[in-house]
Amino acid sequence: MPELPEVEVVRRGLVNWVRGRTIDAVEVLDPRSIRRHALGAADFIGNLEGAVVSDVVRRGKFLWMPLADSTAAAAEDPGTAPAPKAALMAHLGMSGQLLMQDPSVPDEKHLKVRFRLSHREGMPGQLRFVDQRIFGGLFVTSLVPTDDGGPGGLAESPLPLIAEEAAHIARDPLDPAFSFDLFYQRLRKRRTGLKRALLDQGLVSGIGNIYADEALWRARLHYARPTDTLRRSEARRVLDSARDVMLDALDAGGTSFDSLYVNVNGASGYFDRSLNAYGRTGEPCKRCAAAGIHSIIRREQFMNRSSHTCPVCQPRPRNGRW
Ligand SMILES: [Zn+2]
Repeated sequence: MPELPEVEVVRRGLVNWVRGRTIDAVEVLDPRSIRRHALGAADFIGNLEGAVVSDVVRRGKFLWMPLADSTAAAAEDPGTAPAPKAALMAHLGMSGQLLMQDPSVPDEKHLKVRFRLSHREGMPGQLRFVDQRIFGGLFVTSLVPTDDGGPGGLAESPLPLIAEEAAHIARDPLDPAFSFDLFYQRLRKRRTGLKRALLDQGLVSGIGNIYADEALWRARLHYARPTDTLRRSEARRVLDSARDVMLDALDAGGTSFDSLYVNVNGASGYFDRSLNAYGRTGEPCKRCAAAGIHSIIRREQFMNRSSHTCPVCQPRPRNGRW
């Protein structure tokens, strides 16, 4: 599954190409890719044709494009346009890609849905959803008010609206409206282990297994640390670490932002060289090695997955919780 930075790479890559453009036509080449749209292909197409893509928004790993009424000329003057009521939701799944292509480019082998966009000088005319393994998909959903009145997520022109499917998840560490105080309050009440809390999308969204292990390593905290014993400074440290790891991954993927080929794996090069804990089982801990201490990264089973820790700089708490 793509992690949050990869989805953010897609959002940034896409927004400059699609924002303010009208969807002139939609072609569903494989109905399996819109199976989450319960009312079927005709309804899917009917909702989209003639709509203006007003933005590309992300919260956690959820990505959506709010749809404005084209008659409102939302693109030219967003200030006077009525708020969008619906959005095109994109689940990238394992292999989903959103590609900007010129109509002259032959169809990709796994092309599933094609959007013809209104003409824009120097920009490709089509947005294509390509998905080899069909775990991803597209559907139209409602936009609902956010529960805290803040922006729905990271966006170019933030609105206090969120795609219904994403409304239940907490803000992610890259969201400017993320509230550390609220996170810390909820964290202290959880009475669980720290890593389980970091993976809980209702507490903080967008942190997957890799980023949890990396954030814990950077913060020098063990995954089983009981959350109700965490000091404010420790909670701040692990959250800042999660944000820093994500920002580093974004920097590494930044070169692909201007590419026409917006790939969910855009940031994957980061993982080849920058991981400190995840996937380094049996290798020396870099921080300990720098201090002249010999310590080996250890892998343990955790929630049907694995956790990677350094036994020296992330010691196990006596009263650990899983
Ligand atoms: Zn270490």
